[in-house]
Amino acid sequence: MVDRGIPKPTSPEARRRMQRTRRKDTSAEMLLRRELHQRGLRYRIEYKVISKPRRVADIVFTRYRLAVFVDGCFWHGCPLHGTWPKHNADFWRDKIEANRHRDCDTNRRLLEAGWTVVRIWEHEPPREAADRIEHVLNELKGEAAQCTGQGPDTEESSYVGSGGSDTGSREGCGRTRTGPAGGGEA
Ligand SMILES: [Zn+2]
Repeated sequence: MVDRGIPKPTSPEARRRMQRTRRKDTSAEMLLRRELHQRGLRYRIEYKVISKPRRVADIVFTRYRLAVFVDGCFWHGCPLHGTWPKHNADFWRDKIEANRHRDCDTNRRLLEAGWTVVRIWEHEPPREAADRIEHVLNELKGEAAQCTGQGPDTEESSYVGSGGSDTGSREGCGRTRTGPAGGGEA
């Protein structure tokens, strides 16, 4: 997660944020995994969904080709909590922008390969996130049932964006809404 070459935090505040970010990254995913597990759902973790270029999803339901990513608010530029550090601003902006581009690219590749992608922000309550995942899973199960004759109408977006209503365009990643744009500071 933390690459080499990241500049040292230049202030106690920045250091705290980085530590907090790292810790929360993990715990958000853990809480979500626990919640899913309690619901009787079984999944793979850190599963390689694409080999070249290598892409690993956090939580994967292989049978239904559902890939779940839990994105850290800081590292992935959450529109609610993403912040742009003032020190080493260029470095961080590049870093976060690169992550976001990568997320888009990963989504696109997965969709092309027939996967369904769900992205969860680390700030989302685990229960709500699990609801979302379960909902998508149920839809996918419905589609699977359709192959054997029965089945509800499906045609719904196979991509479920973060943050509820998914009215976004299918172009790109569906996550291009109001992020902190390049050049700005939060
Ligand atoms: Zn957030």
